[in-house]
Amino acid sequence: MKYISTRDKNLKVSFEQAVKQGLAPMRGLFMPENYIKLPAEFWANLFDMSLPEIGYYVGKEYVGDEIPDEDFKKLCSEVLNFDIPLVRVKDKIYSLELFHGPTCAFKDVGARFMARCLGYFSQRKNEKTVILVATSGDTGSAVANGFLNVPGVDVIILYPSGKVSEIQEKQLTTNGGNITALEVNGVFDDCQALVKTAFANFDTKGKFKLTSANSINIARLIPQSFYYYYAVKQVKSYDSVICVPSGNFGNITGGILALKSGLPVKHFVAATNANDTVPQYLQSGVYTPKPSVQTISNAMDVGDPSNFERLDMIFSHSSKEFGATISSYSFSDEQTKKKMSVIYQEYGYMLDPHGAVGMLGIEKYLRDNTSDAPGIFLETAHPAKFLDVVKSAVNTEPILPEALKKCLDKPKTSIKMENDYKELEKILAERYL
Ligand SMILES: *Cc1c(COP(=O)(O)O)cnc(C)c1O
Repeated sequence: MKYISTRDKNLKVSFEQAVKQGLAPMRGLFMPENYIKLPAEFWANLFDMSLPEIGYYVGKEYVGDEIPDEDFKKLCSEVLNFDIPLVRVKDKIYSLELFHGPTCAFKDVGARFMARCLGYFSQRKNEKTVILVATSGDTGSAVANGFLNVPGVDVIILYPSGKVSEIQEKQLTTNGGNITALEVNGVFDDCQALVKTAFANFDTKGKFKLTSANSINIARLIPQSFYYYYAVKQVKSYDSVICVPSGNFGNITGGILALKSGLPVKHFVAATNANDTVPQYLQSGVYTPKPSVQTISNAMDVGDPSNFERLDMIFSHSSKEFGATISSYSFSDEQTKKKMSVIYQEYGYMLDPHGAVGMLGIEKYLRDNTSDAPGIFLETAHPAKFLDVVKSAVNTEPILPEALKKCLDKPKTSIKMENDYKELEKILAERYL
């Protein structure tokens, strides 16, 4: 498989190049040059396959012979060594629990896959790689955990000061080793802009490779398609509707890649919080990015979703085509909290604020379309990651998973900086030039 850019279709690079560069020239995003075609026996056996097997067969189509089959099989079994169960919440509504990984959020899947691919490629060439990653909360910790102690790779995380939960901050700032946390006086979009500016302007003088681990990296995106096949396997239906609580729209783009490969799903729903740029786009046909606003589902506080450009390319720059495959709705914090409370009281299921937006989305779609299709929403984080919000919504303390307990006891270490590219440049130059 070769990879093209959303901004230059004549550019074609290998998987390795796309992973290492992160961003294509002129801030383009890499995309597979065509949709994968899975062999008939894959579809015939889907209902019997394990998650690592699905990852191997699907991933192989994207990676080709750039990682030998045996190594790639091992890589997939390491990355996907936790389950992603589909749990019934109520009649015909299922939660795809993506939070059973080491940092308790779905981003573990993409970050671990990318870390191991990059580790494989740089190990062979003895290169130094610096990963720059902006996070609204969960990306940073998943990436840090995926790369912790990977030789030859340093990770620098930029996060918005005071805009992530206490547990998230601990997960970002207690790693040590090859992981550094920069606490930016700004919002997530500022962090993302700083990272993009560094990629466009920082001169590494050939001393190291600067790369990204945000959802814009193709090695984050590809594995985010694996669990959609696994969801269909578990629901055992060919006409389910899947709702993805969305921020940068990387997770749902993984789902659309799966759909385009022939995955039998009837429709997708992208549920957002008050950051309603995409729902507005589907209504008006005009894409108008906005500054992000802060909500209780903070990992989705994105006003200019970076993967919109990929979806726009997939849907031939047509809002009609986009809307025929994906419906999109925005929900308020009030609605989200109420949903968390009602679902806990009536069904005993504890939602996190992101999954709750997903649940609102799937229920609205099925109701508005009087559909009795099985509805799946992606539960993207463990509720314990958002203690305060969850406690106030459901009046009960979520049980902390072991992985989260550990980092709470460690002291926070971060470098504070203003929202100023010059400061970032200085930090990079002092360390690596
Ligand atoms: C990142 C994140 C999202 C949003 O995913 P995108 O790929 O950015 O759309 C949703 N929920 C949680 C918990 C997240 O960490």
